[in-house]
Amino acid sequence: MQMRKTLTNLWRKPLRLALVALVAGCAMKSAPPLPPALKYPEFIYPAVGQTAAAQAAAIDRGWRFLQNDDLRNAEREFAAVLKVIPDFVPARTGEGDVALARQDYMRALDQFELALRPAPAYTPALVGKGQALLSLNRDSEAREERYLAEGCVWVFRVNGTWSRDAAVGGNVARFINHSCRPNCWIEIVDKTIWIRASKSIRKGEELTYDYATDGEQTIPCRCRPGCTNRF
Ligand SMILES: [Zn+2]
Repeated sequence: MQMRKTLTNLWRKPLRLALVALVAGCAMKSAPPLPPALKYPEFIYPAVGQTAAAQAAAIDRGWRFLQNDDLRNAEREFAAVLKVIPDFVPARTGEGDVALARQDYMRALDQFELALRPAPAYTPALVGKGQALLSLNRDSEAREERYLAEGCVWVFRVNGTWSRDAAVGGNVARFINHSCRPNCWIEIVDKTIWIRASKSIRKGEELTYDYATDGEQTIPCRCRPGCTNRF
């Protein structure tokens, strides 16, 4: 009887210790360093601007977990930041990256769109949204997103179904700049884009037309000094 009791006690103690260690392990897992070869090299680090150091550190830990393919802990870090600051763009972008890594592209798209709502020009979210759209076979939208991220407009929407991408085999007309006071206008005949003069143009004068974009209004117009329009 005495012997059995001692054995039970001996058995119980390590188990309790093991349980404590397990609980502590969950709460204190520290983020590993970045691996020599990133698991998701195409993702862009969700940089934090001038924010509290605590949030910046959490984003950094999340990124390291993500790049070590520990998606559960990455998500936990980003979610913890969002709990404190619900519209924190880098954390929302991190959530999008985790969804992308899980190949849950619709959720990724949602997360990147949420991130872009308060910060339409945030590059990591723009690039992530482009990747999500590509994965959903929405190629032309994806390219538009990429060029927006690069501060360019190359995709010409011909109609509701067709877009022309001037960066893929476009002719010299792709270099015609936008102007809010243009000297040309656009005529679309079938799927051909014609650039027509809207006034008499002198030899050597730059051709311009109004891009008439319906995008995020993030790129400042530089058609003339002091133009305040965005497209
Ligand atoms: Zn302008």
